[in-house]
Amino acid sequence: MIQLFVPLNFLGFVYREIREALTNIERLFTLLRAPLKVVDADNAETLQLQGASVRFHDIHFRYDQGREVLQGISLEIPAGRTLAIVGASGAGKSTLARLLFRFYDVDSGSISIDGQDIRSVTQDSLRRAIGVVPQDTVLFNASIGYNVAYGAPGASEEDIWRVLELAQLDTFVRSLPQKLDTPVGERGLKLSGGEKQRIAIARVLLKNPPILILDEATASLDTHAERRILDALNRVAERRTTLAIAHRLSTIIHADNIAVIDQGRVVEQGTHAQLLAQQGAYARLWADQQRERIEATDD
Ligand code: ADP
Ligand code: MG
Repeated sequence: MIQLFVPLNFLGFVYREIREALTNIERLFTLLRAPLKVVDADNAETLQLQGASVRFHDIHFRYDQGREVLQGISLEIPAGRTLAIVGASGAGKSTLARLLFRFYDVDSGSISIDGQDIRSVTQDSLRRAIGVVPQDTVLFNASIGYNVAYGAPGASEEDIWRVLELAQLDTFVRSLPQKLDTPVGERGLKLSGGEKQRIAIARVLLKNPPILILDEATASLDTHAERRILDALNRVAERRTTLAIAHRLSTIIHADNIAVIDQGRVVEQGTHAQLLAQQGAYARLWADQQRERIEATDD
């Protein structure tokens, strides 16, 4: 009975919200600036995972007829490791994440997971393997419960509460009269950027994918909330292949590898300590951010 309760509940949403949800999905893709042009190959196979190592090989990419946004990027993420990507705004960081999720296909080069070119596998099996915490989370016009369980259809109510707790949202949701059934999105309760982001984090924790993409995942959280959520995210990322795009360098100092991207190229790569010792672009970024932090605490 307990097992049945949640799926039936969700079916309820599905009937009521299917139109809205479809519109929402379109909006989601529009907001992610994705064209939905990618199609499965005729003989596409299911992605076979063995640890989920990711390899970007000599990637070139441009949007439409624009300039080349990625100009020969090669990077590897061994199974279960974390690669952090840093670099100025517009450098191409989010584009790399969109290509891994296959919102677009590369113009040349290839992306592979455990040796399988992502163009040779079904989009469904690819996207099931990847969880994304995007820069801006768009919620469905549905309940909090639906928004968290989206992507993990078999989840129980207990599971939902467990991930809300990890994302530091349980106290907030318990305080709402309708709790998990509280409508959110444009026609529901307005959530702050940080709350929306924590919903996205809870969703990813519930989906429990072998590959994680964190696109400036803690950007809209205040430092206090960030610290605690980072702990939760780090715990999840530990056992997973993770691509972490970071604005604040303090969030990625423990990454196994850090790549600095500038104008679509990898200009430096190494651990935090190695990159500091190199005294190049990363060391300059680090010094700038340390100075900003000191100035901020002085105020
Ligand atoms: P970052 O995440 O490093 O800030 P992005 O990967 O989002 O940078 O963008 C890299 C470049 O591609 C930028 O110049 C950006 O304006 C451009 N760009 C991003 N999305 C699109 C799009 N859908 N169409 C055209 N240009 C885009
Ligand atoms: Mg970005």
